[in-house]
Amino acid sequence: MSGRTITTFSSRLAIDLGAIRANYRSLARHVAPAECGAVIKADAYGLGARAVAPALHAEGCRTFFVAQLREAFDVADTLGADAAIVILNGLDPGCEAACAEAGFLPVLNAPGQVERWRRLARAKGTALPAVLQVDSGMSRLGLDAAAAAALAADPAFPREVALRFIMTHLACADTPGHAANAAQLASFRSIRALFPEARASIANSGGAFLSPAYHCDLVRPGIALFGVQPGPDGPAMRPVVRLEARILQIREVEAGSGVGYGLDHVAPTRQRLATLGIGYADGWPRSLGGAGAAWHAGARLPIVGRVSMDSLTVDLSALAPDALAKGDFVALLGPCQSLADVARDAGTIPYEILTRLGSRCERTFVETVQ
Ligand SMILES: *Cc1c(COP(=O)(O)O)cnc(C)c1O
Repeated sequence: MSGRTITTFSSRLAIDLGAIRANYRSLARHVAPAECGAVIKADAYGLGARAVAPALHAEGCRTFFVAQLREAFDVADTLGADAAIVILNGLDPGCEAACAEAGFLPVLNAPGQVERWRRLARAKGTALPAVLQVDSGMSRLGLDAAAAAALAADPAFPREVALRFIMTHLACADTPGHAANAAQLASFRSIRALFPEARASIANSGGAFLSPAYHCDLVRPGIALFGVQPGPDGPAMRPVVRLEARILQIREVEAGSGVGYGLDHVAPTRQRLATLGIGYADGWPRSLGGAGAAWHAGARLPIVGRVSMDSLTVDLSALAPDALAKGDFVALLGPCQSLADVARDAGTIPYEILTRLGSRCERTFVETVQ
């Protein structure tokens, strides 16, 4: 039997492109007159960049951020020629010509990246567009202040690099009161002053809600587009994903029965259990064993025992005995339970839950929000 003809899935993920668009519109309004870009790295946080990018382009988004050159190639043909694709992690040595030919904008994160881009520009006899990242205190990517000052003092630099904007990234944007935010803003401003002509970008989703001072010319939201509240002071965003898993089996176990690997759960009484066709290989965290839940008709169905690779078991005690049958779907993400809820139960952040979902589930794109 050929796998190609099999169309059933044990779990399904519905992605609301209408909600993503609505989230983009509200972010764009909030940061205006700054431009609102969109971060679609990691396949649009696992949701499918080839569907998400054109939906955002239709809302007026013209600056898209990916992490890697490969991701730019994967999405470029879904966007108009008027869209800029920025490669946040910059280029590995040897990739410069391919990037320039495709018209993507590399972020120059280190002196070596700057030098290789300039070398290509000299070979071509023309300035090549790029973005410059400076480190303002996160110590992750970007030139330090001294390296940036050296570039600013080099008269050949503007002839070789057409600086589209200068950027930095905040370490603590989701903690509005953190002193590092103001310190990074001040550090960025002093470096940015060395390049007076260049546009500037500092804020991710959380940064967009610190204060307008962080908007600069261009904002780079990712997670807020995908439905997660950008920091404690940010607005609630429209939820974007619904995840459901199918019931593979329902069984009643006697008091004292062990459930799942290691028999970690022992039924305290007679218990009605459902085994769902989703596990850690589908991105549902193993840390939710004995901690998380599925939902049906407003009832919480606690996960009992460990999460397996391809399945997990939930307790149906909260429901009438005939409420669910084998083959039915129960909810894991949606109005019942947000990404933030699941992340809290799993001891992680919504970003990690989102980006790990979906390699084996059925993905559908819907437009429930207009
Ligand atoms: C991932 C990333 C973003 C988007 O961050 P969110 O918190 O998802 O909004 C913005 N800028 C840079 C440099 C990033 O790496």
